[in-house]
Amino acid sequence: MLAKEALMAQLTIEVDLPPEVSITAYHRFGKGHGVEVSWPFPTQCRCDRCHREQKAHWEFKDTVQVVRDLDILGEPSFWIYRPAYQRCDYCHHRQHLIPPFKRKDTSYTYRFEQQVLRLLIGSNEEEVARRLGISAEMVDLIVRHQLADTKAKEVDPWRLITDVGIDELSLKKRHKLFCTILTDLSNPAQPEVLAVAEGRDEGAARKCLEKLGETQRRGVQVYRADMAQAYHNACRALLPAAKAVVDRFHVAKKFNEVIDGQRKKNHAGVQGETDQGRAERIPRADVGVPQGSPGTIGGGQAEVGRVV
Ligand SMILES: [Zn+2]
Repeated sequence: MLAKEALMAQLTIEVDLPPEVSITAYHRFGKGHGVEVSWPFPTQCRCDRCHREQKAHWEFKDTVQVVRDLDILGEPSFWIYRPAYQRCDYCHHRQHLIPPFKRKDTSYTYRFEQQVLRLLIGSNEEEVARRLGISAEMVDLIVRHQLADTKAKEVDPWRLITDVGIDELSLKKRHKLFCTILTDLSNPAQPEVLAVAEGRDEGAARKCLEKLGETQRRGVQVYRADMAQAYHNACRALLPAAKAVVDRFHVAKKFNEVIDGQRKKNHAGVQGETDQGRAERIPRADVGVPQGSPGTIGGGQAEVGRVV
């Protein structure tokens, strides 16, 4: 008994979470990590159907929902929670509570979407899909969602931005789509996507940069771009105080190498080496569910990748 206890080692890992989310439990999840999460539920609810405002009284489904999040130590991690719903007091319509960390009808977090975009820099959808164990269609969908989001959203005007990267993304395999992506690199450890625009010309770059307020743009000290002249033209016009650094390609390449290195160490035999043709024919688990059963989570596996 003692010997067994002595073998149990404790490993503490730091997980970076959005402010409203907290971890309530952890499970080893096949070749990944399962993290049970909770967040404060809204106390009021507005019915989707009859639009009446009412006091929330959330009920829980018997199943769990599993959504893909960022990798932990080079292995995929999944957030697990019990979906809540509200039955309308007036019309009895049942509506689900959408967690603050993901959009409706997807099985991954917003920050996973952002990771997909960053990995696309200097890469392509097939490669990113293979690396993350998701389908190329999902990569495509994520880019489209992010494009639509940027159109509707403004960058927080109080955000202090000193260093940005501007890059081209291309989805060539299915429907040709070229995008320009603006990333906040002020905190190099946590690059964040600020804007995405369709196209890879000066106009697209301007569209991204115009998401920043004028004062904000004047505060940018450095922009990183590759050699493409169009991006430099836009940055010179809209970031009057910024110096150009032409090392973006190397940054993206480095980022990819780090991820790949971790994958090779941890995922030997799981992801395997797949050539492009093969990757297309084999249907993949929706969100890159690693092989092996989750074990500790009852009924969890059946829900993996399911869209609510
Ligand atoms: Zn209603």
